[in-house]
Amino acid sequence: MPHTLTAVLAAALFGGSLMAITPPPALPHRDFGQLPDGRHAELYTLDNHRGLRAEITNYGGIVVSLQTPDRRGKSGDIVLGYDNLAGYVGDTKTYFGALIGRYANRIAHGRFSLDGHTYHLAANNGANSLHGGNVGFNRRLWTARDVSTAAAPALELSYHSADGEEGYPGALSVRVVYTVTPDNTLRIEYAATTDKDTVLNLTNHSYFNLNGEGAGDILSTVLTLHARRFTPVDATLIPDGKLAPVAGTPLDFTQPTPIGARIAQPDAQLKFAGGYDFNYVLDAGQPRQPALAAEAYDPRSGRVMRVLTTQPGIQLYSGNFLDGSVIGKHGHHYGLHAGFALETQHFPDSPNQPRFPSTELKPGQRFHSVTEYRFSTRN
Ligand code: BGC
Repeated sequence: MPHTLTAVLAAALFGGSLMAITPPPALPHRDFGQLPDGRHAELYTLDNHRGLRAEITNYGGIVVSLQTPDRRGKSGDIVLGYDNLAGYVGDTKTYFGALIGRYANRIAHGRFSLDGHTYHLAANNGANSLHGGNVGFNRRLWTARDVSTAAAPALELSYHSADGEEGYPGALSVRVVYTVTPDNTLRIEYAATTDKDTVLNLTNHSYFNLNGEGAGDILSTVLTLHARRFTPVDATLIPDGKLAPVAGTPLDFTQPTPIGARIAQPDAQLKFAGGYDFNYVLDAGQPRQPALAAEAYDPRSGRVMRVLTTQPGIQLYSGNFLDGSVIGKHGHHYGLHAGFALETQHFPDSPNQPRFPSTELKPGQRFHSVTEYRFSTRN
C-alpha cells in the first residue's frame, strides 16, 4: 500500500491528523485492590505530560489524585481522597472524587412521582435521599475502556443500572468519559439512556484544595461564581422552590471573594448548612457548549481552577462536616473546610419541583452533559 494511503487510513482510525500514524499509547493502569465481593478495581493514569496527571479508578469512577503545577512549576495533588481502595470502600459519608447518581444531591423524603406512580428511595440523609441512595454510582464497579486518542488520554466508564435499582425506574445505561486535554483540562462528558421514564442528575464529587490535599483549609481560596441566584433551602437542605438573588447576602460570589470571608456571618442559610452547601443557579442557563461557571484562585500556590459546564446549577460545598476524623492520603487528617466541592448539576429535589429545569429522561432521549475543570496558575 502506498505510504500516503497508510497514513490516511491510520489518521482516520485514530482520529488524529495525518501525522498520527502510530496508535496512542495504552493508558497505564494497575490493580487498585479487591472489593468485598471479590472483584478487582483498576487504577488508570491519564497524563498529558504537560503538567496535568489524573489517577482514576473504575470503582465509583473516583478521581483518586489530580496533579497540577503550582506557580513555581512544582506539581501537587489537589484532590482529597485515600491511598487505597479500602479507604473509599469504608467511607459512606464523603463521596470523595466519585461519580454521583442516579440523583446527585437531595430528593425530599426519598420520594417522587412520575407518570402517576410514586417511587420510594432510601432515606440516607435524615428523612431525605442523598446522592443516589445506599449504593449509588459512587459504590459501583464500572466497566473501563481506553478511548485515548493521539491528542489526549481518555478513559470511558460505563455502568448499566437495572430497572428499580435503588428505587429508580427504568434500566439506565450510563457512560462517562474522562479526558485530560493538552491544555491542562480535566473534561468529563456524561451520557445516559433509559428504557422507561425516569429522573437523573449526574455529577462528580471531587473535593479540591488548590494548595494541595492535606495542606490546610480552603478559606483563603478566592472564589467567583457566575450565578446571581441560588435555590434557598430549609434546615434539611431541601429547596423551597424559589430562585432567590444572592445580592446582599454572604452567598454572593459574583465578585472574587475568599470562601472564608463571610462563612461565619449570622445568616440563616449558612447556619442550616454549617457553611456553604448551596446550589447556585448559573447565569448561562443550560448552554449547548460548556460556559464558565466558577473560578477559584489559591493565593498561596497560585493555582487557578476554572469550571465550565453545560449544566444549569453548581453546588458549592465547603467541607462542613470534615472534623479531622477522616484520615486521607499520606495520613493527612482532613479538618474543617479541608476542601471544597463545585458539583455541576441540576437543582436539588427537581423531581418534586415543577418550576425547576426538568431532570426527566425518557426512552429515545439521550442525556448529555459536559463539565471541564481547567487548570492554570497566576502570580
Ligand atoms: C452535599 C452535602 C453533603 C456532602 C456529602 C454534598 O454534595 O451538598 O450536603 O454533606 O455532599 O459529602
